[in-house]
Amino acid sequence: MIQSEPRSAAFSLEHREFRDDEFWQEIPGWKDVSREDFGNYLWQAKNSVKKLKEVKEVLGERISDKLIADIEAGLRIAPMNIRITPYVFALIDWDNPIEDPLRKQFLPLASQMLPDHPYYLADSLYEDVDSPVPMLTHRYPDKVLFLPLTTCPVYCSYCTRSRIIGGSTDAVEKHTYGANAAKWETALQYIEETPQIEDVVISGGDAFNMTAKHIRHIGERLLGIDHIRRIRYATKGIAILPQKITTDESWMEAFLEMHRLGQSRGQQVVIHTHFSSPIEVTQWSKNAMDRLFAEGVIVRNQAVLQEGVNSDENVMMSLTKSLSYMNIQPYYVYIHDMVPGCEHLRTTLGQGVELEKQVRGITAGFNVPTFVCDAPGGGGKRHVASYEYYDTENGISIWRAPNVKPNELFVYFDPLCKLDAAANKRWSDSASRERMVFDAISKVDSELGASEREKISERLEKTYHVSK
Ligand code: SF4
Repeated sequence: MIQSEPRSAAFSLEHREFRDDEFWQEIPGWKDVSREDFGNYLWQAKNSVKKLKEVKEVLGERISDKLIADIEAGLRIAPMNIRITPYVFALIDWDNPIEDPLRKQFLPLASQMLPDHPYYLADSLYEDVDSPVPMLTHRYPDKVLFLPLTTCPVYCSYCTRSRIIGGSTDAVEKHTYGANAAKWETALQYIEETPQIEDVVISGGDAFNMTAKHIRHIGERLLGIDHIRRIRYATKGIAILPQKITTDESWMEAFLEMHRLGQSRGQQVVIHTHFSSPIEVTQWSKNAMDRLFAEGVIVRNQAVLQEGVNSDENVMMSLTKSLSYMNIQPYYVYIHDMVPGCEHLRTTLGQGVELEKQVRGITAGFNVPTFVCDAPGGGGKRHVASYEYYDTENGISIWRAPNVKPNELFVYFDPLCKLDAAANKRWSDSASRERMVFDAISKVDSELGASEREKISERLEKTYHVSK
């Protein structure tokens, strides 16, 4: 249908209104908590919800036994533990928790979860495969991903690193590690000895879980390397614990010192953060951003596209405009990675392509997020519409990554719940699904030789986890 009028959502001014009421006092356990206490990062950390019994304790009568049982069953199969700051917990609409976008991101319900895709992978992006030394992934020519710790102030159900983040669960045994400067030296030496590296993402894990001393240690070490031009501290913190920016003076001073040190040496020190829903944006986030902006700190956002969280075009437009208004650049929206426990949160690639089309044009181009698919197998981030071939019926897309792994093809799969019954029948048989993958690959490379076929077949059978 041709649209004759611009959409009202594009012209809405709602993104300029920042929630500033005492919303946490709606939670029975926090009804007497003052604004001053709620605004303190130490109070937030101390009162974070880390166990199911704490969910029950703070909510009292506001949560039903049925919902508690559903979460309990969800936690038995989910790869992530619970950890939620009071700030986010109180922003959940507890009158309608089933459909609430924040509840979906932090408290899994067994009744909503789906079996994993046959080709899911715990390390879908091959971060461990493309790791020359522990805690470091080197995939792009001039950029590395440094993982100095694997703990965070919250644990997200959609985490792409659920294989290592946030401690073991009933479903997944993990080796989670905290910040420990002595263990970082091998990674830092690799960066020092590899002159083509210019860009370091310090992620994990979350930079909010590093002490001021750790922030300085990593910053001074990296900024002391002449070929490093850009470092990014990654934290979801501004979205889920903005009080840290306004009240943890020791952490902020350490970060700002690194920012100024970088400026004096011509090196960029920025923050990458992680809002996925406009509901996470309040006056508390705006206050945090006002401080960072006044200090000249660039903040960029990386959102994950999730069904029922931000898959609606109006929600994505609202998120984009709210972030822009607070001076956060909406940098990326990722198509959900093919990791375990997330099938109910994944969208199709086609939904991502359509959303990108709907959001583009809403504001200045530099504030329109680039929608990307991080190609499973370590192809890196590719623009959603840059696939080589897309079989929408069977949910198979084929990708190339000329600057990353020029001789390989990468395959991304849509969630089976989005395909019709006939496609699901084809997917239920292992020989038939392999045939579908080869059919899609042959549309891109019709000359595929026997040895390449064997290699891909091996990868499908051995490297990808094939559900029995
Ligand atoms: S904050 Fe990031 S690293 Fe930590 S659990 Fe969430 S998605 Fe994973």
